Amino acid sequence: MVKVAKFGGSSVANAQQFEKIKNIIRRDPSVRIVVSSACGKIGKDDHKVTDLLYLCHAHVQYGMSYEPVLALIEKKYRDIQKDLQLSLNLDEEFAKLRDLLQPGMSLDELVSRGEYLTTRLLADYLHGTFVDAKDVIQFQYDGSIDFDKTKQCLQPYLKEKGLLVIPGFYGALPNGVIKVMSRGGSDITGAILANVIDANVYENWTDVSGMLVADPRIVTNPRQISRITYAELREMSYMGANVLHDESIFPVKQKHIPINIRNTNHPENPGTMILEDCEELDKTDIPTAITGITGKQGFTVITAAKGHSSSEVGFLRRALEIFEHYKLSIESVPIGVDSFSVIIESKQIEPVLYAVMNDLKTQLELEEIKVQNHLSLIAVVGRGMKERLGMSGKIFAELGKHSINIKTINQGADEISIIVGVDDRDFRNAIRTIYQTFILQEVTL
Ligand code: ASP
Repeated sequence: MVKVAKFGGSSVANAQQFEKIKNIIRRDPSVRIVVSSACGKIGKDDHKVTDLLYLCHAHVQYGMSYEPVLALIEKKYRDIQKDLQLSLNLDEEFAKLRDLLQPGMSLDELVSRGEYLTTRLLADYLHGTFVDAKDVIQFQYDGSIDFDKTKQCLQPYLKEKGLLVIPGFYGALPNGVIKVMSRGGSDITGAILANVIDANVYENWTDVSGMLVADPRIVTNPRQISRITYAELREMSYMGANVLHDESIFPVKQKHIPINIRNTNHPENPGTMILEDCEELDKTDIPTAITGITGKQGFTVITAAKGHSSSEVGFLRRALEIFEHYKLSIESVPIGVDSFSVIIESKQIEPVLYAVMNDLKTQLELEEIKVQNHLSLIAVVGRGMKERLGMSGKIFAELGKHSINIKTINQGADEISIIVGVDDRDFRNAIRTIYQTFILQEVTL
């Protein structure tokens, strides 16, 4: 058994968190690689090192002193070093950082220093081998990862025994220049490394005990999801449930490596397992019909009507081309006999709404065009729904009983999600109703 364990910003925020990591690693000799984010926030009023580094850059750009901001960063690292009595020469490291803070500096190199310094300290504390991400994580010039080259670069380090401790979030371009990933990118680094070493599990340690069935800001104490498939996760995260960086899924999914979301503050909790396929496990431990309920607010529906439009060849294509022309990405397109609707994020359509309506009306010779705002989409996701007859009927009936009007309905042929559109006002109530009925009362069909 070989594991890659990635620790997020809150897991490396201070010396106490470092100690928790040591206990976790000590208990599990199968962890071969540790990936670390930069120190995150300690409390609500604190700041992430990465944010502070971006702020230092802005200060330099505007010709202002970055020292007060750098002092906040420096304090975090000095506290950890002092509390854990680590030997890293921080005077030298911060002198280098100050040299870097010049007009025209590389922003990527600057912000990568958060992960670099945190991981130097962590490697020291865990008695592991520090491996600089710029020496192993290799990008191509188009920004995609060169997996073969990354594997090659990692090989010599794998010959050594013991733990490898590697910063997340950055790597190097073919010319050796440091490049960072998008925000939250340490998740991606962990997934890449799990891929190249063919890990059995990719552990992602954070400050929540895995994924929850529903948003805890809407449902009180929602249950934890013990296992979920990649496909379900994709549906959930597309509709707003964010636990992992989107781009971290592909490298592990490609090799069928399970992801285990764990809580550094509660290591006894087994967290959530994300698997390619849950079929075997589901045979003995039958899942609830619904795995998760999530949703997003702020959609607009444009409904266009024209008699006999459904038999007019190319009608829908011409309509969609108008949206394409304005570079709008469409959420869904429910079609009627003499009308169709387009559901789109309000913030995308708002700036060009009247131009789009005008083009639709004139180019398609519409009889009527209507706009409705304040639509919410709720995704009910579950691999278990497929086997249960009458699932959508039951969901609609429950929402009806609670006086929630359904405006749109969408279910793909794979049957792992049902998406309903409701008024923004009913958003929270709809999620609570579905949770109450299908999770708490475990309505069987
Ligand atoms: N430190 C980076 C960020 O705050 C990357 C990460 O934490 O994964 O976005």
